[in-house]
Amino acid sequence: MSGRALVRATVLAIALALVGGASVAGAGTGVGNGGTLYGEGTAPIGCTSHPGTIVSVGPRRPFVALTFDDGPSSTQTPAILTTLDSMGARATFFEEGRHVAGREELMRQILDAGDEIGNHSYHHPHDPGLGELASTDAAIRAATGFTPCLFRPPYGLVNAKVEAAALDQRLQTVLWTFDSADDHHPGVDAIVHHTVKSASDGAIILMHDGGRHPQTVEALPEVIAGLRARGFRFVTVTELLGGQMLYANSPPSGTPSIR
Ligand SMILES: [Zn+2]
Repeated sequence: MSGRALVRATVLAIALALVGGASVAGAGTGVGNGGTLYGEGTAPIGCTSHPGTIVSVGPRRPFVALTFDDGPSSTQTPAILTTLDSMGARATFFEEGRHVAGREELMRQILDAGDEIGNHSYHHPHDPGLGELASTDAAIRAATGFTPCLFRPPYGLVNAKVEAAALDQRLQTVLWTFDSADDHHPGVDAIVHHTVKSASDGAIILMHDGGRHPQTVEALPEVIAGLRARGFRFVTVTELLGGQMLYANSPPSGTPSIR
């Protein structure tokens, strides 16, 4: 085991020992309000979840998790990040391993902003096996130093093969509470109206990155404003589910504060 791996294993062990206790909100992680960047060396290296389980909604509290599938993309991801940062919202990006090469800096920006990265398989097949999930984790880890703890199956399809792969890769499967329907390109107003109207406490909201969804980018500010007006706050999926981001150089008990 390398020195870095040993440090990481130790941090993970400490953090995992704390899982199950009350969520600790507070400072100390370097995650600031308004998208403050982490200092060098304090980016997250992992997160805690419940591998092998499937979830589609969080606890019934006034938090929602925006999720963006199929990225990263050079055309959409930067605009999404800019909106999230300027509006003080967090989100989760379920990324395809095949899109990571050449976009490593963009991936690091996602984490630096306090947003989360999850695994969406490598090639987006209908029933990805362990190789698809493992290679995607490896690509994300190589680009960012972060290992996902969440998996979004392509098309939301789950079967015994997919479930086994997720469990083997120590990933929790995350479906969604409702679909923004942005994949059908219904128009910006339709996306805003449907998404704001459909949200409920603990909702995990499906949206799309991937470079083919300009309406999503355009709708996002109004989606955030509309949901905020309804009293919702925006968290990552890990935060929504009570898990923790894990850091190499900060106390694992310092869960990022919810905003
Ligand atoms: Zn997808």
